[in-house]
Amino acid sequence: MRDAGPVPLPAPVQDTLCAQDTLRAQDSLGDRALRLHDRTLVVEGHVDTPTLMLDEDYPVARRHTDRRAHLDLPRMEEGGLDAAFFSIYVAPYYGNGARAVGRARAMIDAVTRQVEATDEAELATTAGDVRRIARSGRAAILLGLEGGHALAASPDTLRALADAGIRYVTLTHVNTNRWADSSQDEPRHGGLTDLGREMVRTMNEEDVLVDLAHVSDATFFDALAVSTAPVIVSHSSCRHLTPTVRNVSDEQLRAVAENGGVVMINFFDAMVNPALDRTVFAAAHRQLEREAKGLRSLWSAVYDVKRARDLPGATLSDVLDHIDHAVEVAGVDHVALGSDFDGVFDLPQGLEDVTRLPWITYGLLKRGYTEAEITKILGGNTLRVLGAAGREGGEGSG
Ligand SMILES: [Zn+2]
Repeated sequence: MRDAGPVPLPAPVQDTLCAQDTLRAQDSLGDRALRLHDRTLVVEGHVDTPTLMLDEDYPVARRHTDRRAHLDLPRMEEGGLDAAFFSIYVAPYYGNGARAVGRARAMIDAVTRQVEATDEAELATTAGDVRRIARSGRAAILLGLEGGHALAASPDTLRALADAGIRYVTLTHVNTNRWADSSQDEPRHGGLTDLGREMVRTMNEEDVLVDLAHVSDATFFDALAVSTAPVIVSHSSCRHLTPTVRNVSDEQLRAVAENGGVVMINFFDAMVNPALDRTVFAAAHRQLEREAKGLRSLWSAVYDVKRARDLPGATLSDVLDHIDHAVEVAGVDHVALGSDFDGVFDLPQGLEDVTRLPWITYGLLKRGYTEAEITKILGGNTLRVLGAAGREGGEGSG
């Protein structure tokens, strides 16, 4: 649809400069991209930094230069990222009960402690909060729960975690739980159970966004049929370009558009890399079968195949291709960013950490998007769905 000419990448030799300096030196569009990026409210749908904050006492207020982690508050500022959903991720091995709930609560506490101890960030629960906090020059931190098993199959637990600040729930992780099937596990329910439908309705009542990343296709459409509010897909890319079950199909893109929701594009190499075609995923699936492993181990099998075939890594341009495709199928009002920073082990060249986000703006300008369209993709669309679910009457507040 658009001119998809190649976007030049920052030269490796410039890697030691900050992303803004390399962009300013790029061409006249670089400067325009920086100015647009700076005045736009940029929102990320999914970052996994809280796991580091809880398990490794990772100080989020300090700048980390070793690139092992992708995000901290100083680098958020450098990358012009105003707000991010911090993922309260509960691994499947915590089970379906009290241990999983405890893990979620401990992670919420770890994030809250660090955010309250710094002047550079504040916890947000509404679109109005995000605007107010961003205007004050601080980072707005939103909370999303990843893994419906951490609700312990209890709508009351959902209500309690909503009160603790959770603003979206990813219905499953890689595990099918007691009320919803995952895309990377055996389907046990054929989608959502009656309890699963009750969970979705309770999320609507509690102004908690329904997140359909990770779920099976049947769960996806079951949830859309029940939800009265716009849904999100917090960190998935396009199956048409990189054919993994973790990405959304064109049919799903159209369904989210019809629902008024937003698909937030994941940057993970294995979800945006065009070199990973059907034959690669088929080979990975065959390997899992041979080794009697389930789809939960998908990425390690994909990377075995990738290494064996000596396939190239993804680049910034590939992420832009996924944004283009999603915009082409769902429309520009239904696409946003959900990098999965600190949740993935391999990011595209040119998008190595959060400081590289202005390059997305540059790439979109280069491809002919208008400033109004770019503003929607960078954060406007996410704020719209957050406002639609907001307890305080929408995005105009605050
Ligand atoms: Zn995830």
